[in-house]
Amino acid sequence: MSACTFSDLPGLAARLASVPGTRPVGLRAVEIGPQALAHLPALIRQVLPDTAGGTAAVLRDDVPKFPRGDGRSGRGAEAGETVTRLLAADHWPRDVIVPGSDGHVYADAETIGAATGRVRGAALLVTVGSGTIADIGKAVSARLGGLPHVIVQTAASVNGFADDQSVLLLSGVKRTTQTRWPDVLVADTDLLAGAPIPLTRSGLGDLMAMFTAPADWRLAQLLGMADSYQEPLVSLVRGHSDALLQAAPGISATDPDAIGLLATLLALSGIAMGAAGTTAPSSGAEHTVSHLLDMAAAARGGPPALHGAQVGMCAVLTSLLWQRVIRLLASPRVTPHFPSEAEMEPRVRGAFDPYDPAGAMAGECWQHYRRKLARWRANRSQLLDLDWAGVARQVAGLLTEPAQIAAGLERAGAPARPCELDPPIGQATMVWAMANCHLMRDRFTVADLAFFLGAWGPDEAGEVLGEAGRLEAAA
Ligand SMILES: [Zn+2]
Repeated sequence: MSACTFSDLPGLAARLASVPGTRPVGLRAVEIGPQALAHLPALIRQVLPDTAGGTAAVLRDDVPKFPRGDGRSGRGAEAGETVTRLLAADHWPRDVIVPGSDGHVYADAETIGAATGRVRGAALLVTVGSGTIADIGKAVSARLGGLPHVIVQTAASVNGFADDQSVLLLSGVKRTTQTRWPDVLVADTDLLAGAPIPLTRSGLGDLMAMFTAPADWRLAQLLGMADSYQEPLVSLVRGHSDALLQAAPGISATDPDAIGLLATLLALSGIAMGAAGTTAPSSGAEHTVSHLLDMAAAARGGPPALHGAQVGMCAVLTSLLWQRVIRLLASPRVTPHFPSEAEMEPRVRGAFDPYDPAGAMAGECWQHYRRKLARWRANRSQLLDLDWAGVARQVAGLLTEPAQIAAGLERAGAPARPCELDPPIGQATMVWAMANCHLMRDRFTVADLAFFLGAWGPDEAGEVLGEAGRLEAAA
């Protein structure tokens, strides 16, 4: 599948453009496969010919990245150096190294501002790296008025390469922000296979959101809590779920075909988010729990576990929560609550204040949450009259057995439970993140519904964690 999916990117873009409410796909070429990097100069000549003769800023971090060796010639050249050599045929390459701390780069305002200043004046931006560097590159390209941008992906670690949004750190909170599509995406599977295996497993984890996030998106639309739901964008990725689960052992073994499938689905997942104009096709409650785990790690002063590793584990938990909510919706009396702002503001602030005594984080979350609360309250009369069993039936087809998600992760050697993450996450932090995940943003998820039905808080989160433990013991 990886060989042909993007051979007709204009065709795919045209097909998505015919879906009402979608936005145009700005990505103009995607190359995924062995030796894909060798095509870099030809792709740039084809898609961005006007940049020839100009400076090419090569944006990367200071961690060397090597392709997997073939056993005879040893490992190949470092990726950034290869890119610089390839660019030298038509451009003047110039390194822009993004400084990190403890090997971690953060996409905060200061980092993006500094990178923008150093890239300014270049005719072309080539970002070489994984998720956070790509997010910074997309933000810099947007800041510089749509500077032509090529991403050379060095790990199949997240789905954020092929879209026009960046996860930025604002007031200590990770926020998805509109930035700019890359013009070209290159994912060389030899290079991806050379990435540390936890990064590759993390990519699989990020994709496990396909078993929970589309259901959240559909639920939100059915409840009048989202403006759109585009089934073709969901099936773009979800249509390959069986292939992905079957490829799980190959992903662990860095089999080139399995890595190619993973990179292809990550790119499709990005395209779905970009076309939707929201991360909703690929990001629901499993992501909000993960974002709260990031906040807890930041407050502790240490790096969080890998994004996708957290998301995969959280998809198992969210899927268990979904099972509870589906059962609840089948009961004869479904009674939603409509709490007031006066009731919810202290709750939101109380959830986040311990992690940020200055209150900036809590204030940011409350601004987002109050929009969602206002919409929920405005929908009161429709919601009191809703056919809840019908809602459950319409969403059920998008869900998967929690055990199947856990088994997929386990077959790839990816973390399926909190204690398996690096660093491991304790029970108290997990309960806090799960019970409060709905309070951080305006996206409506299954956790919001469970909360408004009086069925979501620390006790229930603890029960779900217990169910997850028994699930994995049985698998
Ligand atoms: Zn993600």
